[in-house]
Formats: sequence, C-alpha cells, structure tokens
Amino acid sequence: MGEPILVTEVGPRDGLQMSHSIMPTQVKIRWIEAMAKAGVKEIEVGSFVPPKLVPQMADTAEIVEASLGIPNLHVIALVPNLKGAQRAYECGAHAVIVPVSVSEAHSRANTRKGSLDQVEEVRHIVDWARTQDRPMKVDAGCATAFGCSIDGDVPESRVVEVATALAEAGVDSMALADTVGYGNPAQVRRLVRAVRAAVGTKLKRLHLHDTMGLGIANALVGLEEGIRCFDSALGGLGGCPFAPGASGNIVTEDLVFMLESMGFDTEIDLDALLKAREILQGGIPEETLLGNVARAGIPPTYRNAA
Ligand code: ZN
Repeated sequence: MGEPILVTEVGPRDGLQMSHSIMPTQVKIRWIEAMAKAGVKEIEVGSFVPPKLVPQMADTAEIVEASLGIPNLHVIALVPNLKGAQRAYECGAHAVIVPVSVSEAHSRANTRKGSLDQVEEVRHIVDWARTQDRPMKVDAGCATAFGCSIDGDVPESRVVEVATALAEAGVDSMALADTVGYGNPAQVRRLVRAVRAAVGTKLKRLHLHDTMGLGIANALVGLEEGIRCFDSALGGLGGCPFAPGASGNIVTEDLVFMLESMGFDTEIDLDALLKAREILQGGIPEETLLGNVARAGIPPTYRNAA
C-alpha cells in the first residue's frame, strides 16, 4: 500500500463558478455522485455567496443536502463570512473553507474586507462553530499567497503573518492557495517551509492553479515538502471571478495519474474519473475541458498504487 494522499475535488465550486452557463442542479448531483463513486473522498460542492454575484452557486444548499446522502463523502462548502457558515451548518456541511486573501486588493475585491479584518471574520466563525451541537470543521484558505493579478508581488512575510493570525484564530487547518497561478516550484518550497515553521501541521493543503503550466510541478514540490492534501478540479476548470487573469485549477485526472504512478495511494479509480468527465461536459457543453490523461488516454504502463 502506498502512502495515502487526499485529493479534494473543487470543480463543483472553483470550476463551475467561472463557467459561462449554469449547470443544472440534477447534473451537478450526478457529477458529484460519479466522482465519489470513482473514489474521491472529499468534494468542495459549492459556495454560500450571494447568487446575484455568483449565480452558478445559487443551488448550493440543495447540492450540499444531496451530497450528504453519498456514502463516505466529506462535504465541504466555501463561505465568505459567518452568515454563509451558518447556512452551511444548517444544511449539514461537514466543513467550511473560508478564503482569506493575503493580497489586500484581492481581499477587498473578493470579500470587501482587508486581510486581517477577514481573519477576524474567521475568528467569529470558529467561535460560533464551537458552540454548536454538531461539529463542523472550519478551514481557511490563504488566497493569492503566491502573487496577485491586481497587487502583483505578495511578500512571503505577509503570508506568514496571515497564516499565523489564522492559527491563532483557531482554524482546524489551512491551505496555501495560488489563486491566480503565478507560483513556481522554488517559491512553493520556500513558502511551505516558512508557513510550516510558523503554524506547523495546521498547514495542511495546497490549492494550485495552472495558469503558467506549473501547477503539477508545484504540487510535486509540495509533496516533497510533506503536503499530503491537494485541491484540484476535474477537467482543469476553475478561476476566480474577482481575480482577473486566473485560469483553471490543476487537473484532477493528471494529479491522480502522477500520484498513483509514483506509488502514492489516492484510492481514486482513474478510469471511473474519466467517465465522470462525460457528465461534467454534458452539463456545460460549451466549456473546453483540459487534461493530458483525457487527451492521451490512460497508458498501458499505468498501475494503481494500491
Ligand atoms: Zn482556486
């Protein structure tokens, strides 16, 4: 058995929020079911944000509720604030992820708050969640940690400062997110080390975009640095409506191919994952799906790690 790696599918949230058409709710549910059946253990199924800003996410309550009926699936929703977290809790989500952008300009565009004010919002969410009957994990994503299309450079000291504040606010875990996909492997290594030195194992995952084609290389360096959880999107969809220039997430199929080929165990069946692409494509026929595994086919040399 290879060492386990958690691949968290973010396509239903990060991917669909940028699609030109709105995927019908029933197709979203069938798509999520198909990915779970392929072995995906954790899915970010939607976000509780104002539907007038992100109409693709208007059915998130229904999607969360349907996803809870899928056996062994950890259901995550993105929430920008306490109100969103309360809605996620009411719907039964297992965890929420709260974005905190390290870039001030992106933070204001995304949540209308500065970075440290958004950390305070996270603290309110944590404090509120801890008083509820049912446990709900509160994770945070340090967005634009590797650069910003509005602000440009994001100082690493600033990322460490925000991460430290989030740890003090009591989050269960956090991600470093390359929201616009400007990061490079050397930067990933430096930043993972710096943030780990500040917050230890609270830094759990990487959320990478492939804007410059370095997403998989960045994931590999994260892996070498001990990261064992990665976000990715089927078909490489994704982007941020409030971060101009961002393109899609790293491609789930390609990430699984790399990890399994290297002997890590994702428990995901690549063939079944490719079949789930057909449902995704059917739901948003005008979108171009990306991915090398889908283009080339699974090579005969491929073996599952397990
Ligand atoms: Zn993203």
